[in-house]
Amino acid sequence: MARILLKGICKEFKDETVIQDLNLEIKDGSFTVLVGPSGCGKSTTLRMVAGLEKQSGGEIWIDDTCVNETPPGLRDVAMVFQNYALYPTMTVRGNIEFGLKNRGVPRSEREKLVKDISEIVGLAPFLDKKPQSLSGGQRQRVALARAMVKKPKVFILDEPLSNLDAKLRNQMRTELIQLHKRLGTTFVYVTHDQVEAMSMGDEIVVMNKGAIQQADSPMTLYQDPANLFTAQFIGTPA
Ligand code: ADP
Ligand code: MG
Repeated sequence: MARILLKGICKEFKDETVIQDLNLEIKDGSFTVLVGPSGCGKSTTLRMVAGLEKQSGGEIWIDDTCVNETPPGLRDVAMVFQNYALYPTMTVRGNIEFGLKNRGVPRSEREKLVKDISEIVGLAPFLDKKPQSLSGGQRQRVALARAMVKKPKVFILDEPLSNLDAKLRNQMRTELIQLHKRLGTTFVYVTHDQVEAMSMGDEIVVMNKGAIQQADSPMTLYQDPANLFTAQFIGTPA
C-alpha cells in the first residue's frame, strides 16, 4: 500500500503545456479513478508517477520518499495499459514470470508466486497455453498477473478494458474491484467513461485540459459538483 502525492506538477511537450500546477493526494489503499475527456492529460500524469515520463516541474512523493530522481524500476509502481503486449512465443507462465526471472528470483519462489497469482485471476488452467489461444479477457488477465506478480505498492491501470466487449468489460470491472479488496494495494484506474468511473472508484479525480476540476467521492461529485464542467461531465450519460 502507498500514498501518492503530486505537488505542483507541470508537464510541457516542446512548447505546449499539457499539465499545469497539478496537486493531488491519492490515498493509501484507495481505488482512485482518474476520469476526463480524451487528451486531458490522464496518461501523462500517471506515466510521470510510474517514472516513464519526467515532469517539467513539481514533486512526486510515494509514501515518505520524493521519487523525482528514482528510476521507474525502483518506484514499486506497476502499470497495465490498454495495448499491453504479451510475448507470443512464451506460455502464459513464461509471460507472468518473465519479470521475476529478470530480477533473479529463484525458481521455487517464482513457481509459488505464479501459482498464487494465477489462482487469484483465474488463469491456473491456462498456464501452459500460448497467448494466441486465449480469449481477450484471458489475455487481459495475463497482463494483470504479470504486473501483480511483482507485488507493487501501487497499481496503475490505464484504460485496461477498452479493447474488450461490453459484457466482458462489465465482468472485468467487478473482478478488478474484488481484486482491489483482496490485495489492499493502492489502485489508480484511468478511464474516459464517467459511468465506469462512478461505478468503480471510491475516490474520483475529474480532469480537463491538464487540470484537476474536482477530486471527491462519487457521492460528493454527484451531489455537490464544484463547477459547471464537473456537473455536465458527470451528469451526461456515456
Ligand atoms: P489522455 O490520457 O487524458 O487521453 P494524454 O496524457 O495522453 O491524455 O495527453 C495529454 C496531451 O499531451 C495531449 O494533448 C497529447 O497530445 C499530448 N501528448 C501526450 N504525449 C505526448 C508526447 N509524447 N509528445 C507530445 N505531446 C504529447
Ligand atoms: Mg490516455
